[in-house]
Amino acid sequence: MNNNDIRSQFPILDVTVHGRPLVYLDNAATTQKPLRVIEALDGYYRTLNSNIHRGAHHLATEATERYETVRRQVQSFINARHHHEIVFTRGTTESINLVASSFSKRYFTGDDEVVVSGMEHHSDIVPWQLAGATLRPIPFSDEGVLDLDAYEKLFSPKTRIVAVNHVSNTLGTINPIADIIRIAHGHGVPVLIDGAQAISHIPVDVQALGCDFYCFSGHKMYGPMGVGVMYGREELLNEMPPYQGGGEMIENVTFERTTYNQLPFKFEAGTPSVGDVIGLGEAINFMQEVGVANIAAREDELLRYATSMLSQLQGIRLFGTAPHKTTVLSFLIGDAHPYDVGTLLDQLGIAVRTGHHCTQPIMDRYGIPGTVRASFAVYNTLDEVDRLFAALQRIMPMLQ
Ligand code: PMP
Repeated sequence: MNNNDIRSQFPILDVTVHGRPLVYLDNAATTQKPLRVIEALDGYYRTLNSNIHRGAHHLATEATERYETVRRQVQSFINARHHHEIVFTRGTTESINLVASSFSKRYFTGDDEVVVSGMEHHSDIVPWQLAGATLRPIPFSDEGVLDLDAYEKLFSPKTRIVAVNHVSNTLGTINPIADIIRIAHGHGVPVLIDGAQAISHIPVDVQALGCDFYCFSGHKMYGPMGVGVMYGREELLNEMPPYQGGGEMIENVTFERTTYNQLPFKFEAGTPSVGDVIGLGEAINFMQEVGVANIAAREDELLRYATSMLSQLQGIRLFGTAPHKTTVLSFLIGDAHPYDVGTLLDQLGIAVRTGHHCTQPIMDRYGIPGTVRASFAVYNTLDEVDRLFAALQRIMPMLQ
């Protein structure tokens, strides 16, 4: 599929911003949605809307079947052993909160440590703090590469779990999660992977990786907002108590005692976002039609080109220059505040993100308030990189 064929599937790319064609480079925050995903949502509400699992009528049966089909689709997409290891959530944040809350209730003893990376998103930091853990961060180099020797030394008898991101949303580093998992398992410690930034760029095989949990969001992989996935190994999920109580997650309820439903329903209390799950299924269809390897190759080209172009700009500082990285380009220009750069770029129709990107510890590590972040998806073009470069050249005199 050539780039025009891909772009033509995304209606929002035709929008103009301040009178100029939109250049959307905020894909790490959320990707845009192809027409087939938008139509799946529309079609669901026009012809299928119904609450699932308990209904005897046609719409309920059909909606249930579509919902459960997507569960199997996700199973196959990440190569999970069982479909009941796929739990639908609202997104990565809820997935990690679910694990932190439920895992800690089962396995924490009152003096507990969680090994995270120094480049975690807040959503893989705060849930563990809420669960009462002391965090032991893995340090990283100036380039943004985790120090695996230091990592090995962080394990203690108090280590309950390792929780790291597959790809950093601020630095773009692809972390060596296979090594991280192998080392943790050598210490008898399970591993959660935050895959929010990896799932749309890297083929994921949870069985080959051997991770215990893998979490991601639909909206960062061309799917709708409001849906995400928590993959967990059956043995652990069976041991862990429910996260929320309510409908669907029960087997039998009395005022004295409640027993819980089987997996995955034990972790899906209440009415799920059925239409969004169906939309996620369409997003996976889109990704598989283009091919995850093709998406990665295309984005790699964009990243390499953008890195070489932006490096030519005087006074630019790039953050995250690891040899293995995906399509995130974080930078600062001289002493200009990232927000000023972002606002001026917006005037020229270019959407980037500015700030700490929910990774304040990274900003502290470099002693900066934030960065400007351009991030690419499969529909971006080299021409758009040129527009970013030209826009930066144009605004630079205004930033002095
Ligand atoms: N982890 C990482 C690495 C992320 O980039 C994000 C989103 N910026 C999240 C977690 C949280 O994802 P969500 O907001 O979709 O729950």
